[in-house]
Amino acid sequence: MEENKKEKKSSKISELRQDPITGDWVVIAVGRAKRAKEYIKAREPYPPLEDKCPFCFPEETGQEKDTLIFRRSDGDWSLRVLPNKFPAFSRNQALRHWEEGPYFGMNGVGYHEVVITRDHARQIAVLDPIEVAEIIDAYQDRYIALMSKKSVNYIEIFHNHGREAGASLEHPHSQLMAIPVISPGVKLELDGAEVYYRNFQKCVYCAIAEWELKNKKRLIFENDNFLAFCPFSSRVAFEVWVMPKKHKPYFERINNEEKVDLGEALQKAVAMVYHTLQDPPYNFYIHTSPCDGKDYPHYHWHIEILPHTAIWAGFELSTGIEISTIESEKAAKELLSRV
Ligand SMILES: [Zn+2]
Ligand SMILES: [Zn+2]
Ligand SMILES: [Zn+2]
Repeated sequence: MEENKKEKKSSKISELRQDPITGDWVVIAVGRAKRAKEYIKAREPYPPLEDKCPFCFPEETGQEKDTLIFRRSDGDWSLRVLPNKFPAFSRNQALRHWEEGPYFGMNGVGYHEVVITRDHARQIAVLDPIEVAEIIDAYQDRYIALMSKKSVNYIEIFHNHGREAGASLEHPHSQLMAIPVISPGVKLELDGAEVYYRNFQKCVYCAIAEWELKNKKRLIFENDNFLAFCPFSSRVAFEVWVMPKKHKPYFERINNEEKVDLGEALQKAVAMVYHTLQDPPYNFYIHTSPCDGKDYPHYHWHIEILPHTAIWAGFELSTGIEISTIESEKAAKELLSRV
């Protein structure tokens, strides 16, 4: 009897879960399961600014001219988009390819812009949902402006929060990179969605949304058009996805009603992560169909939010398999308890 019990306990050291889209595996180390408070870490503070904040004072600090500006009724700006002063891609070049022995390359042609909200001290977690809808509106506006440019095949939209998550400035901002290549991560999802469709005549993301809405174990928020949940095969503790309920391959086709609902879903999801993990560093990004002129009827755009709760070590780097220390059902429960 005693032995049996022991055996039961030891067989629960971990479990493997597979992502139905990419086929990737994650390990959930149940035996090392932690509570939310054990993931809370002190954040690295930003050094004091030597000069004025470039995003509070774009003109005074010599930033490039806006590509988009939204104003409030009193005339002050509420959001602006500027070309990045230190771009990772250059917009004034023609695309050139080259080969060298077994290698193939091209020059870094593209567009790199920053989306800045007005208030230095108010991050997304504490904005009003309608202010987040305005950010979505700006993403869409710039996406549409850049998607038809020659040499642009994919547009990455992402948000880094905190130094540990790669945000070099404390002032809340997102980035948009319009680039000539489709990243391997997106390619894996596009291919996975197509294979799933061929096998089951159904979109894998729709199947996930349907299941999570019915099952509710991992669901943390829903409104008319969106749901937010902790994915079954979460790669990091407290990972959250925000997805349209209906089948939508193209983010840029989002309508006004959906923008308001997405503003609410994204703000609520980020706020839950903020409260549960006490303002952790995090990244979120949009995954959507490429703008390379091809059709992607089987893909379903979504947002992935990844709090910095894990460090990649040898096992993760060599296998690409992440070890998470909390089941996504438990993470969802903890997130919901902070609403
Ligand atoms: Zn600022
Ligand atoms: Zn779908
Ligand atoms: Zn994705």
